[in-house]
Amino acid sequence: MENQNDLTENVKKKQMLRTYNINTPQYYFYKEMHKNQSIDYVKEKQKQYSILNNRKMDIHKALSLLDEYIDPSDPDVDEENSIHAYQTAERIRKKYPENKQLQITGLIHDLGKVLFSLGEPSWCVVGDTYVLGCEFPECIVYYDTLKENPDFKKYDKNGIYKEGCGLDTLYISFGHDEYLYKVLQHNSGKHKLETKFLDIIRYHSLYPWHTGGEYRQFMNEKDEETLKNVNMFNEFDLYSKEDDTDIDESVKQYYKSLLDEYFLDELEW
Ligand code: FE
Ligand code: FE
Repeated sequence: MENQNDLTENVKKKQMLRTYNINTPQYYFYKEMHKNQSIDYVKEKQKQYSILNNRKMDIHKALSLLDEYIDPSDPDVDEENSIHAYQTAERIRKKYPENKQLQITGLIHDLGKVLFSLGEPSWCVVGDTYVLGCEFPECIVYYDTLKENPDFKKYDKNGIYKEGCGLDTLYISFGHDEYLYKVLQHNSGKHKLETKFLDIIRYHSLYPWHTGGEYRQFMNEKDEETLKNVNMFNEFDLYSKEDDTDIDESVKQYYKSLLDEYFLDELEW
């Protein structure tokens, strides 16, 4: 159990991380994203990536591609993304040394960012996600820039959805969460990760939901469980950004074997 000191430390840290100021690179990033990620755009991307015939590669190769990617939406990380992958996994390993699937989830959760290598613009790869087809809640980061979205003020609170319809039926802005989820689902015979870990990956950037408390009316029973898991996961994803950026060779070796144990073959991306 965390004691009171740890808890206040965490609240303080949370306030320091994820600070979004105006006229920063993050601001211009989200302005582009919010202008372009409309419901029609999401439907088109969903369709495009329902067929995964872009390339074949194993999970190690995908991880190494993140050596070349720095996330422009993140105010707290200016290292290449593969470091963030190891940092997240290592935080998890310290707390849950036996939970290998959770460690792998930490390691691979951002691998969908390889979308950049398929030529997608950053605003279709990273950033906090939000739901299309219903009202935009004001807790969305840089909410004001959503005024340029074609769907702004088009829908009421529930929009095109019914209460309790389940998160899986929502159109969510497209990016690395949904792409990696699709890849893992499509290649389900080639890895041993259970569904609940896939769901963490699918919704980890939906900040208005897991941190902002929005979209709760759409949740079904399964989503209650996912919410708990995503919030637990988010602590590792977020706070690990302050950890050592030198990744030891022995650490890399540990995860290499772990991936070999859970991924059996090349994946279709
Ligand atoms: Fe992410
Ligand atoms: Fe992450």
